[in-house]
Amino acid sequence: MTAPAMNRAVRLISRPVGEAKRSDFSFTDEAVPALDDGQILVRTLYLSLDPAMRGWMNEGKSYIEPVALGDVMRAGGVGEVVASNNPRFAAGDFVSGMTNVQTFCVTDGRGFTKVDPSLALTIYLNVLGMPGMTAYFGLLESGQPKAGETVVVSGATGAVGATVGQIAKIKGCHVVGIAGGREKCDYAVKELGFDACIDYKNQDVRKGLKESCLKGVDVYFDNVGGEILDIVLTRINLKARIVICGAISQYNNTVPVKGPSNYLSLLVNRARMEGIVVFDYAPRYKEAAAQMGQWLREGKLLSKEHVEVGIDHFPEVLGKLFRGENFGKLVLKVG
Ligand code: NAP
Repeated sequence: MTAPAMNRAVRLISRPVGEAKRSDFSFTDEAVPALDDGQILVRTLYLSLDPAMRGWMNEGKSYIEPVALGDVMRAGGVGEVVASNNPRFAAGDFVSGMTNVQTFCVTDGRGFTKVDPSLALTIYLNVLGMPGMTAYFGLLESGQPKAGETVVVSGATGAVGATVGQIAKIKGCHVVGIAGGREKCDYAVKELGFDACIDYKNQDVRKGLKESCLKGVDVYFDNVGGEILDIVLTRINLKARIVICGAISQYNNTVPVKGPSNYLSLLVNRARMEGIVVFDYAPRYKEAAAQMGQWLREGKLLSKEHVEVGIDHFPEVLGKLFRGENFGKLVLKVG
């Protein structure tokens, strides 16, 4: 394919208050710059839409710099190299990396890796991508589940949660999910193989945990924070491990984050609560991808993606994450 004339770019133009709105972004067609030595031009095909994006829009200290006002919104993506001045890549290669929310990305290729297009490309944004790495290292390194233990995971049918639960099953654990709605809970049990799943929108979570975690909770993989974290803390065992992966229930807050009032349960149970950031494990991604690839081939892991279409719908599609309107890893097909 010849180099395109124009790039459609979605830029952050104001810091959202509460949920990100369309008016927080600009949508512009911009000339694609000529490539310097060492650069490649990538045509973006699929974008990863992640809860963390909401945090990246905020001013202030975090594990990564905020997106500056006026910059193209940060996003991971997969795409096709259409021109290359870099010996590591050739036109026609498929790659994953931080393409950002735009149709064409010029990069020196740092942080980009080639992917195998014989698999569905969206899998590189899910099980073989950032959410999969988060699940793998967060559960195995921080959660340290042992066969026979009980693992509870919230956001249970989402990108990270579904993989956490499936890996915990592979490791011989009793796995209980927490998800919103009967359809998602049925999927967790019937398709993902969880032992039980609590519908937090229609069920009493406290009662559900009591009934499905008869031996208490050894590992809680927390994707949602808020009230659900507080309730799980009342059911933990001695030496339990709580993995703080995310707190999506709090990301759009206009009031301070709700912290766990039951945290003294950590003291009573000599338990540990630990935050994880997937990027810390980047040097080991290859190891995880090899293992996950094997589990995929053996049919032990499912990778479900929810694909929406159209880069101009970015703000509205991102909002689906915060309403539970995604079923599987949320991906935006660019055009
Ligand atoms: P996801 O689970 O695919 O999608 C988000 C899901 O969160 C929604 O589908 C919804 O599921 C649930 N949700 C939304 N609002 C909620 C609320 N108020 N209370 C309870 N659940 C709510 O997203 P993901 O990409 O896998 O991310 C899951 C979590 O992992 C997020 O907190 C994210 O920030 C975190 N994360 C952390 C790292 C890291 O390095 N620490 C890396 C990746 C992701 P229901 O329909 O079931 O409510």
